[in-house]
Amino acid sequence: MKTLSDLLAEGVAGRRVLVRADLNVPLDGDKITDDGRVRASVPTIKALADAGARVVVTAHLGRPKGEPDPEFSLAPAAARLGELLGTEVALASDVVGPSATTVVGALTDGGVVMLENVRFDARETSKDDAERSALADELAAFADAFVSDGFGVVHRKQASVYDVAQKLPAYVGGLVETELGVLRKLTDDLERPYVVVLGGAKVSDKLGVIANLLAKVDRLLIGGGMAYTFLKAQGHEVGTSLLQEDQLDQVKGFLAEAEKRGVELVLPVDVLVTAEFGNVEHDVVGTDSIPAGKMGLDIGPKSRELFASKLADARTVFWNGPMGVFEIETYAGGTRAVAEALVKSDAFTVVGGGDSAAAVRALGLPEDGFSHISTGGGASLEFLEGKELPGISVLES
Ligand code: ADP
Ligand code: MG
Repeated sequence: MKTLSDLLAEGVAGRRVLVRADLNVPLDGDKITDDGRVRASVPTIKALADAGARVVVTAHLGRPKGEPDPEFSLAPAAARLGELLGTEVALASDVVGPSATTVVGALTDGGVVMLENVRFDARETSKDDAERSALADELAAFADAFVSDGFGVVHRKQASVYDVAQKLPAYVGGLVETELGVLRKLTDDLERPYVVVLGGAKVSDKLGVIANLLAKVDRLLIGGGMAYTFLKAQGHEVGTSLLQEDQLDQVKGFLAEAEKRGVELVLPVDVLVTAEFGNVEHDVVGTDSIPAGKMGLDIGPKSRELFASKLADARTVFWNGPMGVFEIETYAGGTRAVAEALVKSDAFTVVGGGDSAAAVRALGLPEDGFSHISTGGGASLEFLEGKELPGISVLES
């Protein structure tokens, strides 16, 4: 793979460089609630601009339906990027249309501009190779080189990630290089005990990674919404908690596989339950006595202690997925407990997952308390699953 350093060594002054960044930030109206991904995108863009390149940034935000939708405008991200770079970042009002052509045409050396949300163009995510290729041609016409720096999307075979890399001299960006380096540390010669903590909403999102991890980890801690499918598989009643009935057989298989391989699988022993989603009033109950009609929204105090003790002697930790509905303060305690255990640990600690990373920052934990906070959820999981990442393999070929 050719790297950003290779490109800088070639010299970029006066050259137009298209950078695929990941600026998919959570918004409250037009206010960014967590700017982690914007901040992570700065070093590569700044290095190029400082070297005199004319930088064209392309990115997506949310899931618009393949057409312009002001709700998903990149305007807040462009404004934040400009603040962080200390320069104005002009935002085109379209992806590859007349506004983009004008904005790119007005670029001067060391300048940075941004194209509007690339998912406003339905070809970006099309399954049709020719459609994606056509959009990639139009994107490529804006630049002389391509830098792939959106780690959160490298597992996607999309026009601005995959196809455009075949149209221009393509380089891996600094952020993607760093992220890959960290993930390789989790797959190559890692220090043991290796403990993985998984949570989040749906077990179905994480089946592949669980299957793969069972062959690698010493201990697997499961919390969040996905824990209830595991508890049910063990014969517990889970009330109205999140349950994926159709995954029960697969999860029973995981329980058997963990036992066979000597992997210690740790589930919550108590949970915070409530009658209606979002209610603040709650009870703490053992996971063997979750009442019918109530749902578990966070792991309980005994589980927090148990999870912390199972992390205490770890030498390597990967954590993906919150332990509860951390967006509601009442149910943020389990997530906070795991985060604090990681901060306390001197193991190599990696947090992956958009919501997990946002939770760590929202809870006010020091970012330098972790060895690495990944910008990519799906991408890091697919890497750990052993899957090929199209946005990476295209750079290798
Ligand atoms: P990540 O983005 O870190 O990979 P996910 O997207 O898998 O995490 O899951 C995050 C979501 O899971 C959060 O919105 C959180 O509210 C939800 N969640 C966690 N625990 C529960 C639970 N017990 N019941 C319902 N939702 C939960
Ligand atoms: Mg998420």
